[in-house]
Amino acid sequence: LARQQSDNLDAAVVLIKASHKAVVLAHINPDGDTLGSALGLALGLRQLGKEAEVFCADTLPENLAFLPAYGEIRTQGPLPPDVDLVVLVDASDISRFGTLSQGSEGFCARAACLNVDHHTTNGRFAAVNLVDPTAAATGEQIFALLGALGVDIDPAIATCLLTAVVTDTRGFRTASTTPRTLAIAAQLHAKGAPLADIVQSVYYNRPFTTLRLWGLALERLRCRDGVAWTEITLAMQAQVGATPSEGDGVIDLMASLRQVTAVALFRETPEGIKVSLRSTDGFDVSAVAARFGGGGHPRAAGCFIPGGLAAAEDKVLQYLAERAAAP
Ligand code: AMP
Ligand code: MN
Ligand code: MN
Repeated sequence: LARQQSDNLDAAVVLIKASHKAVVLAHINPDGDTLGSALGLALGLRQLGKEAEVFCADTLPENLAFLPAYGEIRTQGPLPPDVDLVVLVDASDISRFGTLSQGSEGFCARAACLNVDHHTTNGRFAAVNLVDPTAAATGEQIFALLGALGVDIDPAIATCLLTAVVTDTRGFRTASTTPRTLAIAAQLHAKGAPLADIVQSVYYNRPFTTLRLWGLALERLRCRDGVAWTEITLAMQAQVGATPSEGDGVIDLMASLRQVTAVALFRETPEGIKVSLRSTDGFDVSAVAARFGGGGHPRAAGCFIPGGLAAAEDKVLQYLAERAAAP
């Protein structure tokens, strides 16, 4: 595996060195890892004299507005026609890029296509795939890639990549955090990334409506046979005046429960139900998410189920109970 990864790193370096005009795509429902990784890579590519733009076909989280070059992120396609490199970061399948992935067969065939990702469920959809499930964040992988490219990690790039690492490890608290994660974070901090400011912006910067929404969600928390779940409906969001992404932290509060096998959050959207899953010990929620067309990591996964709230809850909770009962 290590050999293959270094081969792929070499192949990725060759692809990038041959390119002149790149786009870096971040996944929908964007988080600090996908945006920090995409911006850090784009800034690195620009340092090498290449044109590079970041695209993300979704609403951007306001609390990440401190990220360097955040204001330049394009939230709508189409991708420029003369692009010769497409890099897709922090997602295991092409549908995670939303409307940007329409016609993706086209852009992956036309331009060199590179995927940098750390999800176990990665489908290796690009020409070159840098996939490392032992990385706590895609930001770790971008750090290695920029190193291989000879990019100087300046304070702006360091800020992007440290944000990626801090957010995907929930502030270095996840089991995915390794000595390598901490070593990279230490180097990024030394290169000028303001760790305390990043933590402040991400975790201590919440609108009043966010905590009121969390309160409504926690009020509905239920637990049965080691599985705890709750929901956020459109009506609950409207009641407190919260936007959809303000429900993002609820699943982490739920994951702090003791003596549960798994936790599930069901969020209503006009198109269907967004499901977030977390587990504490051995239970693999990425397999549960995959069963419903989603994916993720063993301890953090998600999927999207068209239709109504009750049907999605029934299906997922029943499947969770079956898997949890299996030896
Ligand atoms: P979330 O619960 O949205 O924070 O997502 C947890 C993990 O599952 C993240 O690593 C996501 O990349 C992954 N994930 C969430 N939703 C989906 C989906 N619809 N398809 C594939 N992976 C997903
Ligand atoms: Mn992500
Ligand atoms: Mn990630």
